[in-house]
Amino acid sequence: MSFVVAIDGPAGSGKGTVTKLVGEKLGFVTFDTGAMYRAVSYYVLKNSINLEDKNEINKMLEDIDIKLEFEDRVQILYLNTERLVKELRTKEVNEIVSQVSHIPEVRTAMVDFQRKLANGIDVILEGRDIGTNVFPNADVKIYLDASAEERANRRLKQNLENGIDNISYEDILENIKFRDNNDKASSIAPLKQAEDAIYIDSSNLSIEEVVQKIVDIIEQKRKQK
Ligand code: C5P
Repeated sequence: MSFVVAIDGPAGSGKGTVTKLVGEKLGFVTFDTGAMYRAVSYYVLKNSINLEDKNEINKMLEDIDIKLEFEDRVQILYLNTERLVKELRTKEVNEIVSQVSHIPEVRTAMVDFQRKLANGIDVILEGRDIGTNVFPNADVKIYLDASAEERANRRLKQNLENGIDNISYEDILENIKFRDNNDKASSIAPLKQAEDAIYIDSSNLSIEEVVQKIVDIIEQKRKQK
């Protein structure tokens, strides 16, 4: 029997780090669904895809093959054999990813892919619409939040750790607010807390505290299953 955990929340809420650590503690596979939308955005930029042209979008989705591998439990995404890490986190990708992720055909393709990936295994998926749309019957749903300023600080630190040093705090904060608005205003799969999700504000919590809270919630739910 599989056990599905959905962790949703806005950009920089700590979903990525927390998901990875909870997965490690409990031995669950983890998927970063934002990386999938980022990979499509990277392809759009690289191939100058016209986002207004449905034929081009459909052709692109046929041509795209996303594979995920794990190195030290970190998800590495391959787009048609190209290994993408830094390429997914550039300013250019940040700027179009919300728009790309709101194209209905792109969403349908990614959601199908996510459902297939998670089929039959113990899994944690992190994203925006996992608990509301991808897995509305997930066993545990968490909505992780933090103030925009705290999220920008974390993203800056994460970028520096990944060798990305050409995006300022101000640019990050502006992009986070822009994506928050776009993601929340989306007519398809808007970013919002599922009614049965547990809300955690991580602004004043350490990563360890958030991880422990989520591990406790999952363990309690597993006992009941
Ligand atoms: O999580 P991350 O910030 O990498 O996500 C990048 C973008 O991908 C988000 O701003 C959002 O527009 C989109 N996304 C989405 N649905 C998901 C995950 C991400 O629309 N499940």
